[in-house]
Amino acid sequence: MNQDWRGVVIRRLLLLIAACLLVGLVSGEYAWSLVVGLGAYLGWTLSQLLRLHNWLKHHQTDQPPPDGYGLWGEVFDSIYHLQRRDQRVRGRLQAVIDRVQESTAALNDAVVMLDNDGNLEWWNRAAETLLGLKTPQDSGQPVTNLVRHPRFKDYFELPAHPEPLELISPVNDRMHLQFHITQYGNGEHLMLVRDVTRMHQLEQMRKDFIANVSHELRTPLTVIAGYLETLLDNVDDVNPRWLRALQQMQQQGGRMQNLLNDLLLLAKLEATDYPSDNQPVAVDLLLLSIKGDAQALSNERNHRISLDADHNIRLKGSEAELRSAFSNLVFNAVKYTPDNGEIRVRWWADEHGAHLSVQDSGIGIDAKHLPRLTERFYRVDSSRASNTGGTGLGLAIVKHVLLRHRARLDISSVPGKGSTFTCHFAPAQVVRR
Ligand code: ADP
Repeated sequence: MNQDWRGVVIRRLLLLIAACLLVGLVSGEYAWSLVVGLGAYLGWTLSQLLRLHNWLKHHQTDQPPPDGYGLWGEVFDSIYHLQRRDQRVRGRLQAVIDRVQESTAALNDAVVMLDNDGNLEWWNRAAETLLGLKTPQDSGQPVTNLVRHPRFKDYFELPAHPEPLELISPVNDRMHLQFHITQYGNGEHLMLVRDVTRMHQLEQMRKDFIANVSHELRTPLTVIAGYLETLLDNVDDVNPRWLRALQQMQQQGGRMQNLLNDLLLLAKLEATDYPSDNQPVAVDLLLLSIKGDAQALSNERNHRISLDADHNIRLKGSEAELRSAFSNLVFNAVKYTPDNGEIRVRWWADEHGAHLSVQDSGIGIDAKHLPRLTERFYRVDSSRASNTGGTGLGLAIVKHVLLRHRARLDISSVPGKGSTFTCHFAPAQVVRR
């Protein structure tokens, strides 16, 4: 009903005043009849207001409003309709929330909602199994108190979490979990936790398989290489027709041995996240000895190798691992730089940490290969690699060693002009003499 209530109220008021004036005309008391008439109207209005107040205060759900007359009846009905509409909307919202909660409860992955201080707000059933959260005791607890792992604390405190974190479950040390944190709203966090034990086992099987095969192949290869060496030592007894074949067999045997050694080294590097050794390493002396080896490798190819190393800066880590990473970079520079080329090795530190750069004036690498260069067996040009006797694992080893020493590798190169490989180490790894 869409009436003009303002007109109705004014008309009724005018009617009431007219009636009062009529009574005044009959009785001769205009003022009194007006006071009594308007007072009665005010009293009736106040009584309606009180009924509305009582109904709003004491009414049960779905209890209809009291009957009202005129504008008051309209006000009662409108409030009642608003309430009903609000209840229906709330019911629908509750149904959506219930469905979302039911579906997340049925997930195998844990879903945990945290407030902006990292305190637990809500979690699903899987979070209880994977993380051991207890309902309702743990509600409001800081998540770092419940997942007590230094790496989790560091990860949680990062400003952004583009990469997931893998950890052992706090309730079962045979279970591997992957944590992924997303920030939303007003600094709140949504934490998703997946059980990746199966993936972890498969990855472990792959690593073990490569390590075992490499290990098992080592002995037969040593025997074959040994016999080939004996045969070639007694070159006079060997039929000249076989000489070239034997030399090639020895060369390829050597390549296979290098390959197995590199595979075993990679398997060893993958077995743990950090080097067991964390002593300050004198990088200048290490580079000096690598320079000597590189000169021997260059031999008659006559490369000019220069070394500029700050002897005040040492690096925390494993000397053996750093030696294999740095020598891979320097030997690559020798391998991929034409005769008489120039190689510069520099070791220095600044406010960003310590840096090692190996710059050569060699054949260079096309920009399209750079992102994939540290993948295992990735080669820019297979004919190039077979000439140099490379295994294709050198830069993969460099990447792994650097990861374990909190460092990253930067590669810049111009085809035909040369390449620069730079390792950047975090300030925390640097020790000044
Ligand atoms: P490899 O044992 O074949 O040298 P690496 O992993 O050490 O394997 O290197 C991968 C590829 O990167 C090499 O095959 C080579 O093509 C390229 N490369 C590495 N270092 C250099 C360099 N200093 N100059 C040019 N190319 C390089």
